[in-house]
Amino acid sequence: MSGIKIITTSTVRKVLKYEELIPAIERCLVKYSRGKIQQPVRSTVEVEKYEGYIAIMPAYDKEEDTFAMKVVSLYPNNGENGLPTHAATILYMQARTGLLLATMEAEVITDMRTAATSAVATKYLAPDNAKVLAIFGAGAQAKSHFYALNHIHMFEEVIIWNRTTSNGKKLCEEISEHCKSVRFCSSAEEAASKADVIVTVTLSTTPILYGRWLKDGVHINSVGGCRPTWREMDDECMNQCELYVDSREGALKESGDIIMCQPKKSINGEIGEVIDGRCKVDRNKKTIFKSLGMAIEDVAAAHLVWMNVNDE
Ligand code: NDP
Repeated sequence: MSGIKIITTSTVRKVLKYEELIPAIERCLVKYSRGKIQQPVRSTVEVEKYEGYIAIMPAYDKEEDTFAMKVVSLYPNNGENGLPTHAATILYMQARTGLLLATMEAEVITDMRTAATSAVATKYLAPDNAKVLAIFGAGAQAKSHFYALNHIHMFEEVIIWNRTTSNGKKLCEEISEHCKSVRFCSSAEEAASKADVIVTVTLSTTPILYGRWLKDGVHINSVGGCRPTWREMDDECMNQCELYVDSREGALKESGDIIMCQPKKSINGEIGEVIDGRCKVDRNKKTIFKSLGMAIEDVAAAHLVWMNVNDE
């Protein structure tokens, strides 16, 4: 078939901007919770020999008439060999005919759409006048989360905690000119106890954030822990907070923090229901947005990339 566009990472970086992406993600979260999106829970193949996972994520937006499918791999051990832990490709197709329009290198799309989703959740769930942002992790998602959250709110202070100090300090250096104040903190407890908003973006499989550390009214975007046996938060953290998710269906199937929590933790609502005004939030309470990531976020981002590439 001729005429299929190949859209590379450098093009994605050039054309995808948070000022367009964050509102597009907000709209698609609402549409998802209203049942306007056709999207199965992602299908995952475990590649046990290499401790890796490959997932297939298709979705169709019935209102926009847009369809795309992402194939994403997660190989946590790649990091030890200096390779990226995630790799992703999106097939962007014409919904009317099912024909392929473009393939897109999708690592940056994944980083940006995930961070944009957390930015939307922060907008609706974080305490008013949040001053301190703590980011747990210093990888690709840590960086995109800093820029997306910074886009919606300028924090007085950003604190980075990371397992490997040198990587945490490197991220601090990189983002320092884009915020008022940033520092690396070697104590996860200290970072958490000072924060009004916390982002957890690690590949940890056991808790790195504990309920006993949390400030009143804190909002947490928990983005790692996206396997049924992986956790980022302990039971006390889960049980102290009101719990919001991107998709109930996905969260109950994929989130170790929810599946393994004792006592069983109930979900207050989907973030799309919150935005839509169908689920009321008390911002004085501690809140968690548990992000598993949805294919429709990729569709929304890929559609923006496609439109902008064709406008050039
Ligand atoms: P990277 O590989 O770029 O970064 C991984 C980060 O996790 C690094 O800071 C690393 O620290 C840290 N880390 C690794 N192992 C551990 C551990 N055992 N304990 C504590 N920290 C650890 O990954 P990404 O930034 O791309 O992804 C971060 C998380 O977000 C992953 O869990 C990923 O699956 C998830 N994700 C979620 C999405 C969603 O939509 N919800 C979408 C995409 C990713 P160090 O510097 O020490 O190596």
